[in-house]
This record gives sequence, structure tokens and C-alpha cells, in this order.
Amino acid sequence: MRILSYLFPRYTWQRLTKDKVIYLTFDDGPIPDVTEWVLDLLQQHQIKATFFCIGDNIRKHPMIFKRILAEDHQIGNHTFNHVKGWQTSLEEYISNTEQCQQEIQKHRQEPTSLFRPPYGKIKKSQGKYLLQQGFEVIMWTIITKDYQAALSPQACLKRTLKRIKPGSIIVFHDSQKAAKNMKYTLPLLIDYAKKEGYTFARL
Ligand SMILES: [Zn+2]
Repeated sequence: MRILSYLFPRYTWQRLTKDKVIYLTFDDGPIPDVTEWVLDLLQQHQIKATFFCIGDNIRKHPMIFKRILAEDHQIGNHTFNHVKGWQTSLEEYISNTEQCQQEIQKHRQEPTSLFRPPYGKIKKSQGKYLLQQGFEVIMWTIITKDYQAALSPQACLKRTLKRIKPGSIIVFHDSQKAAKNMKYTLPLLIDYAKKEGYTFARL
């Protein structure tokens, strides 16, 4: 990700800190079972994380979204329909993001200022607009690739652990596709990071 972060310095790729703190993020929920499994695990470990939610999933599963809020996790906007920035006009991208924002605000008053582009793909014009609107565009330090069917759970864990450093923003997915790798990697990552003296925080 080093090259990308030089190309897009106004997006957030990590938190600059020397403290041993890492930021777990979960994209594409909320959905039944998988999101609830993540919430149970985070609760057990008393960890707060950040969920980049798809607006349409909030609409379909409001009770799970309410649980994320009730358990005091952070919420980010991941558009309403998980749109691909590179294939979407500025107007459409903005309106889809606003639609997600409205869905979030059906359940809590304050809008989120965090945005993560689906697929990590966003046109310069789209990013510029969102930054002007006061969004922080959150990218990642470590992408677990938990969604890759060809990646074994062990390989998913390995690529994640070796990249951890202070301020890392780590991407998981609370989706059906990613469940197998995520459910294997997340608990072992938490155990490892705790042993190494890391704490976890919301963005
Ligand atoms: Zn996504």
C-alpha cells in the first residue's frame, strides 16, 4: 500500500502514532450471523472497532445496526449500494453516499464523518468532493484479503500479522464471502496483538 499512499496522501492510510494501538475496521455489513459473530467476539475482548456499513444493509437489518451503535462502536459510510467509484459519475456517487448518510441518521442524530470507498476505488473528483464536505476518507494499512476465496485462512492470518505496526488500520469484512477467513484470522490476530502489548481503538 506504500505506493498508493504516496499517490493519495490526503486519504488516511494509518494513524500517525508511536503508541501500540491498532484500529480494526469491518466493511460491508451489517448482516445477520457474521456481523453478530464479530460483535460477540469484540464484546468478549472489550474491544471497540469501526464498522463501514452499506446503507442498504442498514435498511435491511436495522436491529443489527442498532446493536453496533448500542455497543459503542464507530460507524463509517460505505455508500448505500456499495458503488464502484471508477464506474460512477460524481453526482451518482455523492447521492449514493448521502443516501447511506440518511440511513445512518435514521438511527442516530449525528452523521458520520468517516467514509471508505467500496473496493478502495474512488475518482479524484469524488474524493475531493467528500473531503470538502468534511469527510475523512479512510483507506487502510493492512487489507486482510479475507474475501479472497483462493486465500487460505492460514495465509490470511500470516499476511495480516506480519504487517502490524503502531497506528495500523486493518480491514476485515463482515460479509458471507469473507466469513471463513475472517472468523479464523480475527480471534488469532486479537490474541497475538494483545500479547505484543497492543490496544485497540475506534477511528
Ligand atoms: Zn466494501
